Amino acid sequence: MRFWMLNNMREKIQYEVILTSKGLSKTKFRIDLLRLFCNSKKSLLVDDIIVFFGNMINKVTVYRALEDFENKGLIHKVPDKKNRKRFSLCDFDECSQNSHIHNHSHFICDICNTTFCIDDIIPPTISNIKGYHIKQSSLILEGYCEECNSTN
Ligand SMILES: [Zn+2]
Ligand SMILES: [Zn+2]
Ligand SMILES: [Zn+2]
Repeated sequence: MRFWMLNNMREKIQYEVILTSKGLSKTKFRIDLLRLFCNSKKSLLVDDIIVFFGNMINKVTVYRALEDFENKGLIHKVPDKKNRKRFSLCDFDECSQNSHIHNHSHFICDICNTTFCIDDIIPPTISNIKGYHIKQSSLILEGYCEECNSTN
């Protein structure tokens, strides 16, 4: 279950508890960053995160926090149409330190270029190819997202 789902169910998310459980420092910025991810159904572009925090936080702090979040299994990199750095929340039950287990697909919108995690669509399991060792498979879906589809 993703954090934003918990949020939708109006359960109180204890950001500090989550950070502590992952062994991360509870600075105000990190709490705000986690909240930002938890309140977004979309993936977040690193450039947008930097703009969001404006002049309050320097870029290096943002990059370092994102790296820590990723290493601890809070967020994962998602594909981006223009190969920009983009992250999305992980499944709290599945991912942990240095261990990301993702069994979902990604959807990229042709209009807004946003990437979404699609939990309902599981990438196909590929039987091994001779001489290759397959660790995981991924599936990228493209088209119009819910929001763009309804306004076009
Ligand atoms: Zn993950
Ligand atoms: Zn869209
Ligand atoms: Zn994802």
